[in-house]
Amino acid sequence: MERAKTEVKNKKVEAYLSLPAFLSIVSSSIETFKKETIGYLIGVKGENKYMVEYAIPYQTAESSFAHVTIDLKRVERVNSILRLLSEGLEYIGEFHSHTAFGESRAYIIPSSEDLLTTVPGELNIICAVNPKKRSVKWYENKNGALIGTVDEYRIEIGGYFVKKPAIGKKYQRVRIKCPSVTGIGVKR
Ligand SMILES: [Zn+2]
Repeated sequence: MERAKTEVKNKKVEAYLSLPAFLSIVSSSIETFKKETIGYLIGVKGENKYMVEYAIPYQTAESSFAHVTIDLKRVERVNSILRLLSEGLEYIGEFHSHTAFGESRAYIIPSSEDLLTTVPGELNIICAVNPKKRSVKWYENKNGALIGTVDEYRIEIGGYFVKKPAIGKKYQRVRIKCPSVTGIGVKR
C-alpha cells in the first residue's frame, strides 16, 4: 500500500512550453502585475506529458487579488473551434498568476481556492511574479519550476494537476520545461 502511493508520487509528469506559450504566460502575468491574470492552455495531452502550444489570456476574466472566475462554457467553445483545425490540438488546462502583495511574496503553490476549482486531469500552471533582487538566467530548479527574470520582475512558473476528485484535493507537481529559454539538457 505504502509502496503504491510512493510510486504514484514519483511518477514524473512534465509539461513542455512552446516559446509562444511561454511568452504569453510571462507577458500577460507582468502586464497585469498586482492583479491576477488567467487564461487557457492549448496543446496536446499524452501519457504523463503535456505539450503546451499556446497560452491565451481570458479577455474578460473578473480579475482581483482574491481570485479570477471564468465561464466554463468557454472550454466547449474553444474545443469546438479547435476541432475545425483538426491538428490534434485541444484545451488542456489553465494558467494564472500569483502576485506579490505588499510584503507578502507570491508563490507557485496552489491556494485552497485554486484546488477547489481545479478540474481533474487538466494541467494547471501558476506564474508567480515578484520584484526582482538580481537578474538570473532562466533555469529549471530541482522541483521542476522554471525561474528567471524579466525587467524588474522575478518570475517563477510551476505546474500541478489533480488526478481525480478527492477530499482535500491532493495535487501532484508537474515539471515545467521550456528548452527554448533554458537550453536543452541544461541542469543547475
Ligand atoms: Zn491561485
